[in-house]
Amino acid sequence: MTEAFPLPTLHRSPSGLMLEDLALADIAAQFGTPTYVYSRAALTAAFESYRHALGARPALVCCAVKANSNLGVLSIFARLGAGFDIVSGGELARVLAAGGDAGRIVFSGVGKTRAEIRQALIVGIRCFNVESAAELDRLNEIAGQLGQRAPIALRVNPDVDPKTHPYISTGLKNNKFGVAFADAFALYQRAATLPHLSIRGIACHIGSQLLDGAPVVEAATLVLRLVDQLAAAGIRLDHIDLGGGLGIRYRDETPPTVADYLAPLLQLFEGRHEELCFEPGRSLTGNAGLLLTRIEYLKPGAEKNFAIVDAAMNDLARPALYDAWHDAVAVTTRDLQLQKYDIVGPICESGDFLARARELAVAEGDLLALLSAGAYGMSMSSNYNTRPRAAELIVDGAAVHLVRQRETIESLFALEQVLN
Ligand SMILES: *Cc1c(COP(=O)(O)O)cnc(C)c1O
Repeated sequence: MTEAFPLPTLHRSPSGLMLEDLALADIAAQFGTPTYVYSRAALTAAFESYRHALGARPALVCCAVKANSNLGVLSIFARLGAGFDIVSGGELARVLAAGGDAGRIVFSGVGKTRAEIRQALIVGIRCFNVESAAELDRLNEIAGQLGQRAPIALRVNPDVDPKTHPYISTGLKNNKFGVAFADAFALYQRAATLPHLSIRGIACHIGSQLLDGAPVVEAATLVLRLVDQLAAAGIRLDHIDLGGGLGIRYRDETPPTVADYLAPLLQLFEGRHEELCFEPGRSLTGNAGLLLTRIEYLKPGAEKNFAIVDAAMNDLARPALYDAWHDAVAVTTRDLQLQKYDIVGPICESGDFLARARELAVAEGDLLALLSAGAYGMSMSSNYNTRPRAAELIVDGAAVHLVRQRETIESLFALEQVLN
């Protein structure tokens, strides 16, 4: 049986699993483990699938930086002409360092600080996606101090159920994101009276890992109605930002293709003048990366067998955080009986698991690839248990680029001080 991997450039050869033209075993020998490995071809293909589906329509694809904020990854998207969706001053600095165009940055987030707003105004970002009335006032004030007009969109909360995990659902009434749909019209009218704001658009983002495009179409329909009401009141918008959220296959999910996801939206917007904007994160990077880890110990038990690996919840938090599934694939095949293992890390928490009850034919020292780890993997990692963060690599054909060195232990406490 040939294995069908969610990472399109991953394949099996006599020398084990290969990403593009490189053997993962060779990569592990050269760079050690745990290591995040991304495929340039897969990153590029994911971005191009959006551009291809959007065709000639004026549209901007803004990569959600929080899903994967590595400079090497961002630089690939920047070179492809992407925009970026940021949620902090740190992400703004990353995009600029990666060669991204400030004029294609949208700034989301409920807690933008004065310093972050100032920084974004000075470099000239494309738009602030404003999430509260108080933020409108703050933007107006700071833009005034700088002698500028801040470009804004209101992030509205259409109260549509995206039918995804409650932690990653963001468009319902009871969560902290966006402004209530019913308040949006009045807020636009107020924004129009503020002298240092320039109203540009409207934004919404209803959740993540969406496996059905219908809730986004429903949200877009509500947004369009509001856009038309605003136009009738003399407030004309230039762009409509429909956020990110398209899901990927981790296990056996069947998300729509980018083309199928966008088709009903493009139909809804046919003939309209507004530029469309999307903020995909997971669907650009999720299935373009894997986490390579080595088995330290096999620990058979009466109830369960454990495969204890050198990656842990500090490297990949999603299983512990959302009970998420990542495929775990042995890099080399062995002629052994399949056994069921929980794949766990060395961290002192029972929640430190990466996968549960997986059938594997493995021995101590073998390599495992945890798939679909390119989004919300490294970007959510921590140093818990004083574990240096993993290295990050980008494979490009037969070449490999180290795009983040493995952290050193000294660097983990370099900012700390012993008391005497
Ligand atoms: C997280 C986030 C995204 C990206 O979501 P994905 O599900 O990764 O595509 C886009 N826009 C906003 C405002 C977000 O918070």
